[in-house]
Amino acid sequence: MQKWLFLLLLVPALSVAEPLRVFASVAPIQTFVQKVGGEHVDARVMVRPGFNPHTYDPTPQQISALAGAALYVRTGVPFELAWMQRIRAANRNMQVIDARAGIDLRAMEAHGHDEHGHEKGHQEDAHDSHDDHGHAEHAEEGEHRVTAAEQDPHVWTNPVMALQMLGAIRDKLQELAPQHAAAFKQNHDAYAKQLVDLDNELHALLDSISYRKFIVFHPAWGYFADQYTLVQVPIEQQGNRPGARALAALIDQAKHENIKVVFVQPQFDRRQARQVARAIGGAVVAVDPLAANYVANMQKVGQEFAQALQP
Ligand code: ZN
Repeated sequence: MQKWLFLLLLVPALSVAEPLRVFASVAPIQTFVQKVGGEHVDARVMVRPGFNPHTYDPTPQQISALAGAALYVRTGVPFELAWMQRIRAANRNMQVIDARAGIDLRAMEAHGHDEHGHEKGHQEDAHDSHDDHGHAEHAEEGEHRVTAAEQDPHVWTNPVMALQMLGAIRDKLQELAPQHAAAFKQNHDAYAKQLVDLDNELHALLDSISYRKFIVFHPAWGYFADQYTLVQVPIEQQGNRPGARALAALIDQAKHENIKVVFVQPQFDRRQARQVARAIGGAVVAVDPLAANYVANMQKVGQEFAQALQP
């Protein structure tokens, strides 16, 4: 009896403010945090819906809201290269984890994410290379060493990698709020099952399609393509619009390889995609890698791909 009383007295001192405030860089990761954390977590997103993670600037309100956050889950999207130092500085007690930890990152295809930061001319750009030890350590684990700026951050487009992130989020939440460890595990397991089902569903949709190559304006689908043995051909060159010559070469390649579809995402300009699609007699299809409703959106993406890549 006395022992119990002692433990009860200890609990308030150990617990942090509830619900636990957690920031994620993009909406799909926010969803993973929300799914695992449930009612015990207040999951927020840095790149708000409709905004582009390549050029995003956090609002002053978001920066001040970081003061009450226990955790930030980053994923290496370009705005973080310019902003991570200031995000950390806003709350030195906030833990930061990288959603990509343990994932063998692919290099960006003709698409330098770092270019965006420089275009924007942040004064802090000079510090970019010092930012992010997590990044650097992580890259060393990989077989092919790519620099942080060359690493493709769009890991969540592969449901199996999303599953891995979900596990990392569960572990960290359990560490931050051990009193809810059982709930986090239960929530994790329920959503993990949905992700496994999603992966199976996408295999069923995509394993038998005839054409495996697709053109995409912004190459956000590399991990998705790897998982379902598809090949993405980007229009963007090093994160920029290609010139006339590069565009003509791409159109030639597409005609030669009988590519019939150009994917675009809502956060990017569609003019060049339309131009390419017109030239190859193909279709422009909008798929969104940043939707918050992850599973339903990925099912829709799978259906769009399957439809577009069928003869
Ligand atoms: Zn991107």
